[in-house]
Amino acid sequence: MSLSETDALLAEANRCVACGLCVPRCPTYRQTLLESDSPRGRVMLMKGVLEGRLPLNARFVQHIELCLTCRACERACPSRVAFGSLVDGVRERIEQTLRPRRPWSVRLLKRFVASPARLALLSRGARVLSGSRLGRRVGLPGNRDAWGRGARMPTRANYPARGPERGRVSLFLGCVARAWDAETLSASVFVLNRLGYTVVVPPGQVCCGALHQHTGELAQAHALAQKNRSVFADAGLPVLSTASGCGATLSEYEGKGAAGAFSHMDIHAFLDRSEGWEGIERAPLSATIAVHEPCTLRNVLRGESHVYGLLGRVPGARIVPLEGNDQCCGAAGTYFLTEPAMAGRLRDDKIEAIAKSGAQYVVTANVGCRVWLAHGLAARGLDLPVVHPVTLIAQTLGFKGRC
Ligand code: SF4
Ligand code: SF4
Repeated sequence: MSLSETDALLAEANRCVACGLCVPRCPTYRQTLLESDSPRGRVMLMKGVLEGRLPLNARFVQHIELCLTCRACERACPSRVAFGSLVDGVRERIEQTLRPRRPWSVRLLKRFVASPARLALLSRGARVLSGSRLGRRVGLPGNRDAWGRGARMPTRANYPARGPERGRVSLFLGCVARAWDAETLSASVFVLNRLGYTVVVPPGQVCCGALHQHTGELAQAHALAQKNRSVFADAGLPVLSTASGCGATLSEYEGKGAAGAFSHMDIHAFLDRSEGWEGIERAPLSATIAVHEPCTLRNVLRGESHVYGLLGRVPGARIVPLEGNDQCCGAAGTYFLTEPAMAGRLRDDKIEAIAKSGAQYVVTANVGCRVWLAHGLAARGLDLPVVHPVTLIAQTLGFKGRC
């Protein structure tokens, strides 16, 4: 890390006026009640290390690694401290200085998602393993879920609008989503086509880079962003993403190099604002739907209202926010693998809230949260589907797993 990068991080840390408004918003502080596990405490620690007053040692790393990068603190901060960029930058320094050994699952995942060929392999492997004991152990949907119902990831480069064309969009597939959430990708194409949009799926797209960005590999994250920017620039269309974790990263591609214009939009915002719904017949769904709001949707994209707007189009459904939506579920990219104890405590709160809600469905806009929550529910013996909002909408339009 160069001197100017250190100066830039210090300048960000110096924006903090230590008001403490972020402290009660922080999920890890709520659990440990330690100032050093709060955003204000972490900013002070990072400032101390960047200024050379504090050692960059294992104790410091422990407090930084325990941060979920949920960015609830950014939402609360009147000084607009860019906590996410600050902690990502400091993690890069940790990575370069101490080279902490991460779990094999995290290392393997990052290697797979960095190339389209390996992603295709991951996707095929997921399909083969789906429904098996090993597949369930690593979090793949089982018989009742996407693969078992015959869902297939969109494989063509072009899906024409049904009826008169209203517009054209391109679709970002993601990495984990291709393997774990093919149903949502197919459902998204299905709904967009029904509304009159032609969907282009550019080949060669790669992982958004979030996994690398939040684990201190900024150069690799940057390379992935550059690749996606050039792949999507060729299509020259708005880029829609279905998983809010990817969307949060894609929305911040601006300023990461000059390779091609990139116009990103979260699919919920796009569909909520789209015209054409009045011409589509929707089957009623007489059920309570609890909405889990992923941190990336709330704190980065600030787009949670669009999920409610979208689900409001399901006739007969009662839509309720899940209690505690201002707190992360603990999945947080690879956090559930690196910090399983804290992740488990945060998920327990969510499972309690779901059990109390009386809902028949839980929806969440992020694939990581979906798999994590579904595991937690299954472990508690609660038989409740956790689905993406667009998948639920698609089902009311007649979606049967294929676009
Ligand atoms: S990003 Fe989340 S976990 Fe990290 S300090 Fe901010 S509120 Fe706390
Ligand atoms: S809210 Fe912002 S300025 Fe206040 S303590 Fe937190 S990071 Fe610092």
